[in-house]
Amino acid sequence: MAEAQRVVVIGAGPGGYAAAFHAADHGLDVTLIGQEENPGGVCLYVGCIPSKALLHVAKLLNEAREAAEWGIEFGAPKIDLAQLRGWKDSVVGRLTGGLGQLGRTRQVRYLRGRASLEPQAAVAVELTDGGHERVEFDLAVIATGSRPVMPGLFPQSPRVMDSTSALDIDDIPETLLVVGGGYIGLELGSVYHALGSRVTVVEATGGLAPGADRDLVAVLEKRIRANFHEILLDTKVIEVTPADDHVGVKLAGLDLAEPERRYDKLLVAVGRRPNSAGLGLEHTGVRLDDHGFILVDAQRRTTDERFYAIGDVAGQPMLAHKASYEARIAVEAMLGLPAAYDPAAIPAVVFTDPELAWCGLTETEAKVRGRDVKITRFPWAASGRAVTLGRTDGLTKLITDVHNERVLGVGIVGVGAGELIAEAVLAVEMGARAADLQMTIHAHPTLSETVMESAELFFGQSPHYYQRQTEGR
Ligand code: NAD
Repeated sequence: MAEAQRVVVIGAGPGGYAAAFHAADHGLDVTLIGQEENPGGVCLYVGCIPSKALLHVAKLLNEAREAAEWGIEFGAPKIDLAQLRGWKDSVVGRLTGGLGQLGRTRQVRYLRGRASLEPQAAVAVELTDGGHERVEFDLAVIATGSRPVMPGLFPQSPRVMDSTSALDIDDIPETLLVVGGGYIGLELGSVYHALGSRVTVVEATGGLAPGADRDLVAVLEKRIRANFHEILLDTKVIEVTPADDHVGVKLAGLDLAEPERRYDKLLVAVGRRPNSAGLGLEHTGVRLDDHGFILVDAQRRTTDERFYAIGDVAGQPMLAHKASYEARIAVEAMLGLPAAYDPAAIPAVVFTDPELAWCGLTETEAKVRGRDVKITRFPWAASGRAVTLGRTDGLTKLITDVHNERVLGVGIVGVGAGELIAEAVLAVEMGARAADLQMTIHAHPTLSETVMESAELFFGQSPHYYQRQTEGR
């Protein structure tokens, strides 16, 4: 190990706190700087965790409504927003408090405040409580994350929300326009729909959840279209006028009947951008790409050898689990261990109902790259478990190399897809062949059998689904 023992980590999200904890576990002297009371970052305070707590409530509300089909009827739900917020906040408090405790146990020094880099391997921290600190370091990890994009067209108004304010659930707007049909728009749109809002989504491109294969998105879109008020594809907001009791918008899109509309609230979820400005990077040799991401090598080392960068600020995909993975790589590289960022599969999960998850190579990418693959699809109507749940709206799909029979990618849409994708990630990472999945005994009756049966389809038929000869390929 080099002599460098003082490590400062700027940013305390899933990248930053993981890096700080790993470094401390290896005996380094670590200072972690974050802006909240405890480590956690956007993910725990205003992202993954509070949104999943609310999505859990949404699931309960939806299932209670749907139970009528099975002869179980509940009355209309009474929603106490203050209590709901309290519960969500308690989830956040419990997890972030736990991280604070884990940091103290590891003797990670946690500073709450804003960090900016100084010319001589030092960070000036403007502490939230009003004080100042100067921290000298040998090595630094930049893990400052990202923030929501808010195009200038959207004025500041309590009626115009970003993902952070939308999580506050100040009220349940009767009508909500969600701008952006990606992860956040679809997840938070689902929460508001379940709570009773009439939700419209406008998406600038021709499809929801860009990035996922269209056959998987189609399953999700079918259900969302049935539940949400409207999904407007190839449509953009071109004017926004907040008023006392509504917000007026002008839309531009293909075959749009009414371009001028009124909503109670808007949620803008059109992507995130890296937090690389205002950090004092000009005092370092750290360089950025054209999108503001910090340039890093396979060890997550920047163009200035004293600095590593991980997580959203270091490039796509902007996912918490990618950040935590990079944290391990960066710390191992600091310790002089052989480590490189080289994942074969990073799971992506949209926590809608149904969930949409994929990893590794997509069918779309396989086509673009001219890969010789066979696609096998197992529809959930053929899954006993899906039928018992009353949720046959699902599809499990394998993208397999025709020559060596290796599973290169997997896509799953259906309830619980976010959990099911874990097996697929392991299969792709370990270079599993279709036969490995086919010959692994999966518990019956579970949705995980759909992974095994889609592998069986690679070789012909599976017991519960008969494939017409033209399918696949
Ligand atoms: P996103 O990139 O997932 O989706 C943004 C969508 O907005 C895209 O479909 C894009 O085409 C559309 N869009 C862009 N400009 C538009 C415009 N002017 N009008 C209408 N549509 C427009 O971004 P997001 O939903 O804001 O989420 C940001 C990031 O946060 C994601 O990329 C993801 O990495 C992360 N995230 C992940 C999860 C998860 O893992 N479950 C959940 C939330 C957020």
